[in-house]
Amino acid sequence: MILLNPRMHRRPYPDERSREIMLATIGFFEAKGKARLLADYYDRPWYSDFLDFVKENRIFATMCTPAGEGADDCRWDTWRNCEFAEILGFYGLQYWYVWQVSVLGLGPIWMSPNDAVRKRTAAALEDGGIFAFGLSEKTHGADIYSTDMVLAPDGKGWRANGRKYYIGNGNKAAIVSTFGRFEGGDEYVFFASDPAHPNYHLVKNVVESQSYVSEFELRDYPVTEADVLHRGREAWNAALNTVNIGKYNLGWASIGICTHAFYEAFSHAHNRTLYGQKVTAFSHVRQMFMDGYTRLVAMKLFALRAADYMRAASAEDRRYLLYNPMVKMKVTTQGEEVINSIWDAIAAKGFEKDQYFSQAAVDIRGLPKLEGTVHVNIALIVKFMPNFFFNPAGYPEIAQQNHAANDDFLFRQGSTKGLGQIQFHDYHEAFAGIDLPNVRQFLDQAETYRELLASDPPGPDQMRDVDFLLAGGEMFALVVYAQLILENAKIYGVADDLLDQIFDFMVRDMSRHALGLYSKASSTPSQMELCRKIIRKSVADAGRFERIWTNDIEPLDGAYKMNP
Ligand SMILES: Cc1cc2nc3c(=O)[nH]c(=O)nc-3n(C[C@H](O)[C@H](O)[C@H](O)COP(=O)(O)OP(=O)(O)OC[C@H]3O[C@@H](n4cnc5c(N)ncnc54)[C@H](O)[C@@H]3O)c2cc1C
Repeated sequence: MILLNPRMHRRPYPDERSREIMLATIGFFEAKGKARLLADYYDRPWYSDFLDFVKENRIFATMCTPAGEGADDCRWDTWRNCEFAEILGFYGLQYWYVWQVSVLGLGPIWMSPNDAVRKRTAAALEDGGIFAFGLSEKTHGADIYSTDMVLAPDGKGWRANGRKYYIGNGNKAAIVSTFGRFEGGDEYVFFASDPAHPNYHLVKNVVESQSYVSEFELRDYPVTEADVLHRGREAWNAALNTVNIGKYNLGWASIGICTHAFYEAFSHAHNRTLYGQKVTAFSHVRQMFMDGYTRLVAMKLFALRAADYMRAASAEDRRYLLYNPMVKMKVTTQGEEVINSIWDAIAAKGFEKDQYFSQAAVDIRGLPKLEGTVHVNIALIVKFMPNFFFNPAGYPEIAQQNHAANDDFLFRQGSTKGLGQIQFHDYHEAFAGIDLPNVRQFLDQAETYRELLASDPPGPDQMRDVDFLLAGGEMFALVVYAQLILENAKIYGVADDLLDQIFDFMVRDMSRHALGLYSKASSTPSQMELCRKIIRKSVADAGRFERIWTNDIEPLDGAYKMNP
């Protein structure tokens, strides 16, 4: 079974320490129990029990120190990071968040030539330290060009003045990697700041949560060369390359949340009797769980395959720059779809404060909005669209990357430019030899979209219209999603029934997005005509549906229940 089940956690690991970390983390939450987990979620104490556990077991030290920077068991290994993120999301986004913003805070440090700060960081991780990424500001949102954190010379170095907003762990971080600019120009800088320094003023937590999402102010905060992590173009690259690493984890939080919510919701609905029959006997409820399940499996297949490309990335193979924002925006929005579907099936139960679902329903909404909204990420990926469809390149096949290794390249990604020049392997290869009705139907839709782009591509006005581009970007994203799902279905030996049922919703989604593009004010008659051709009905098969229901979904009843 591809879904995480902490009750039957028997995944293969390349080393004992990785197994120990995952099992210990599951053990921590199961020992805490569901009642305490949810009470803490609603009462919002700082999660010092979790951080004590992390410290005692050296968990962030092992997971977040690249090889060569710390103890022998340390490495930055995207494969095990995925699983760790999934487990944390499974129990609560707040626990994931304290780790996630540490990952972000560590990015500019591990990318920095500043040896002394790197050594201090490795020691702080061994000591159970957490980290923070000080990029966002209250008035600028995604527009990080406009930073108002300014460093002015003071003879010995500089004095930093400015405020940061939405900075996770800004209350307790060992180091806050802080982004700003030098006074009187547009040279950017990343520097290490310390929440314990008297000139670092913690203003408030801007959210009501166990997570501390801080506003802080630096007032005449002294910065010397010893604190500088990056300057100029390198500071900019460090910001974007760190987000490249971090945003991938959002998809995994979403997968973890949906998996726990699915067990709970299905077990409830399947054991509830209305009018003398199980709630799951209603045809619409069956469809909700079928869509929820197939979407969740697809999320995981895609995100796992994207990990292969992240780990195999190099200066010559930057395809991860497409797949990684897709994990961020596509997997997290699919997570919302999963929760939407199954919440309708359990209705009032999803509100109860002793149900994991009540926290899942809220937290699942956050992920598409953080670290660049869905729009920002679609606007990013459409840059890849011309080469993806019309200028493929040959690459050696990337095998599954589940080995124990340090992902060196992630900390030397280099220039963030030249996205439009990146080439991709031909998506047709993934479809070759798969003779399933919905996969064929989807490929026809994809080919018609390609024809639309070739025969009547977006004109100059449409290119300036982000609303129009986003509609087309959704269709492009679905083709990429399909490609990696198909690649991983082969690796994981996904049964034909399940794969075809996954493409059942993919065909429906493509039709919906085609209608969206058709309906845009500026779509041309020939674009509209081709959009109409894309709108297709998925191929139903009652036998297939029944087999998946019986073999894959019904066994999830009671398969996982958190310790009370
Ligand atoms: C709980 C929480 C935790 C956070 N943690 C951190 C943290 O630890 N460190 C940190 O630095 N930041 C953090 N953030 C900030 C977060 O990354 C920003 O919220 C996010 O980048 C979006 O900025 P914004 O919400 O201000 O939206 P805005 O940037 O104001 O965007 C407004 C609208 O404009 C659209 N838009 C903006 N730019 C573009 C574009 N280029 N193309 C298309 N559409 C665009 C957006 O999609 C959105 O619809 C956190 C935020 C929250 C809520």
